[in-house]
Amino acid sequence: MNPGDTGRVTGLPDSVSIREVGPRDGFQNEPEIITTEDKIRLIDMLSATGLKRMEVTSFVRPDVIPQLSDAEDVLDGIVRRDGVSFSVLIPNRRGLDRALDLRDRFDEASFFFSASQTHNMKNVNRSIEDSIAELEETIPVAREAGLRCEGVIATSFGCPYEGEVPVERVLDLAVRLRDAGCDEVGFGDTTGMANPVQVSRFYEVACERLTEVELTAHFHDTRGQGLANVFAALQQGVASFETSFGELGGCPVPVGSTGNVATEDVVSMIAEMGIETGIDLPKLIEASAAAQRVLGRPLGSHVLRAGPVDWSPTA
Ligand code: ZN
Repeated sequence: MNPGDTGRVTGLPDSVSIREVGPRDGFQNEPEIITTEDKIRLIDMLSATGLKRMEVTSFVRPDVIPQLSDAEDVLDGIVRRDGVSFSVLIPNRRGLDRALDLRDRFDEASFFFSASQTHNMKNVNRSIEDSIAELEETIPVAREAGLRCEGVIATSFGCPYEGEVPVERVLDLAVRLRDAGCDEVGFGDTTGMANPVQVSRFYEVACERLTEVELTAHFHDTRGQGLANVFAALQQGVASFETSFGELGGCPVPVGSTGNVATEDVVSMIAEMGIETGIDLPKLIEASAAAQRVLGRPLGSHVLRAGPVDWSPTA
């Protein structure tokens, strides 16, 4: 018997949506290039776990991120499964045009920039204003193509170069993304600076101000606070998360930024709390174990090492 099933904790959502971002956030940060064949196999394994959303690749410039230069081949090779929505990360108009050549292979587009001027310059070599102005032109084109659009704001909870990122600035940018046509806005703790109290206060204000849009949380576990931050967001009613199997992931700048909170750790925690995810945890662990074999190193996820919680141990 799972003690979490004995009573609902008031204020927490009944079900949670998880977008797996390892095939993009994770694979792009690996020093070695993973073969297209291995990527396709891992994505197909993830699609079979019950995950309903997955970011499968990115249309960034191949010379900037060679790890994802096979975006077309990955999209073309992965199995389209009923009920699984694929998204691709789009940096700009050129990237969207490339992606639209394979329009029938995916359902959602994610657009990103940073709320910190310095991080945005280092990451995409543009000012925040230049980035959002281009997205305001690009997002309507994606919508016209029938894509559901998500805007992701990196360094929403702090910047390694600038320190504090004002909440008002982040929310003003989120409003502009919504007004440009985003159905969803994701807030990224790109280098793992957020703490649970900060997350709680942030989403309290964000949920009040951004009512007609899905609010998503994207936490990195750089300093071990990822799961605590997930719980803080849940308590504010956030029911949409981006996570990465095996705790893969990071950020190109600064070097050494480590992984997203692990999908299996989040799934295990929230399922134990009695919240519906629809995801088969053992199958998810198998996918992370397969990624571990492909990469040839142990991955950071806790549940991958420990296995699921067992309430009826035999020994
Ligand atoms: Zn990330």
